[in-house]
Amino acid sequence: MKKLPVVTCPQCGKEVVWSSESRYRPFCSERCKLIDLGAWANEGYRIPEREPQADQSDDPSGQA
Ligand SMILES: [Zn+2]
Repeated sequence: MKKLPVVTCPQCGKEVVWSSESRYRPFCSERCKLIDLGAWANEGYRIPEREPQADQSDDPSGQA
């Protein structure tokens, strides 16, 4: 018997078994999924703007 991974519902923190039966994963239920989608729609979340690449240490433009 395989041990299935368990994730935490991002909405309510409930543990959710990550299996094909958990159709709303990573959410525990449709309700939590809809809440999360609603949060997106209301910009409760902000998608981070693309940050400038800070690891280009050899930029020849020399702006410091
Ligand atoms: Zn939940």
